Amino acid sequence: MVRVDLRSDTVTSPTPAMRRAMADAEVGDDGYGEDPTVRRLEKRVAEMLGKETALFVPSGTMANQIALCLLTRPGTAVIAGRRCHVVNHERGASARNALVQFALVDDPCGVLDLRAAREAMAAAAHHHVEVTAITIENTAMASGATPLPLEAIDAAASLGLPLHLDGARLFNAAVATGSSAERLARGAETVMCCLSKGLGAPVGSVLALPGARRDAALDERKRMGGAMRQAGVLAAAGLVALDTMIDRLADDHARAEVLRDAVEHRWPGRARDPGGNATNMVVFRHDAADELLAWLAAREVLAGTIAPGVVRLVTHCDIDDAQIDHAVRALAEAP
Ligand SMILES: *Cc1c(COP(=O)(O)O)cnc(C)c1O
Repeated sequence: MVRVDLRSDTVTSPTPAMRRAMADAEVGDDGYGEDPTVRRLEKRVAEMLGKETALFVPSGTMANQIALCLLTRPGTAVIAGRRCHVVNHERGASARNALVQFALVDDPCGVLDLRAAREAMAAAAHHHVEVTAITIENTAMASGATPLPLEAIDAAASLGLPLHLDGARLFNAAVATGSSAERLARGAETVMCCLSKGLGAPVGSVLALPGARRDAALDERKRMGGAMRQAGVLAAAGLVALDTMIDRLADDHARAEVLRDAVEHRWPGRARDPGGNATNMVVFRHDAADELLAWLAAREVLAGTIAPGVVRLVTHCDIDDAQIDHAVRALAEAP
């Protein structure tokens, strides 16, 4: 029986082309800014996202953390959707690194509740904590990897505070909506994208930002232990990911749609997002999620949970149609 690993789009192996590029990569000491492959990757991502510069970092979490250090001051708050990654899935890192707290607002389909955001901003004049930045996530993971509408991005940018965009899956959003990554990132001061999620690279994320912030970002990366040396072997895989793995994300989205249909068929009304444009995930409630996961695992289908009673299935480049068929058959009989 085939193993169908739908836990995350991080479980992929590097493609043969990535492994060849890694073996052949030209390298130098990036601690001295002398790794030509890292430089190429950073320049490339900065151009794609329409920013002046970019920084290669080991993980998306570190990119988010550096961004919050740059945009905030200790003892202030960041407006964020209550279900987003930087709030729930980074082990409280923002409280340790940037020394900030979150002003949480509702985020249906990843869209910030603007009224609540404005209230949080105004509240500093009424004995509340000062808000120094806003963060949004595109695609919105907890909503089944839903792309944000352009209006929601522009509205968050127009609130008038520095905006960070967690674009771990920004290229999924670009492929799904037809807007360029540059357009999706336009209102944000800092943007991070992951090479190691749907794009299939083994390691790495990139934080794009204004040139005037590059030195401060280098300092924060160093403090967090994220300054690497001959990192060109990793950046080389990232460049192949950008060259070869973006357009094919549409296949992941189509396969997730097949899974979404299967979940909807088995548990009606659970898996459809209201906008109907979710990308490479199916997120749904199940009262006995742990039992469901064990039942599926016994049939070689691996799924995960992102909150109590919230199941997640994720498609990626190492999942093919035969594996989807297998998962669909399992879901049809699932308890
Ligand atoms: C995975 C993810 C991150 C963090 O990336 P890591 O490389 O796992 O640290 C940040 N934001 C979102 C939305 C993610 O899905």
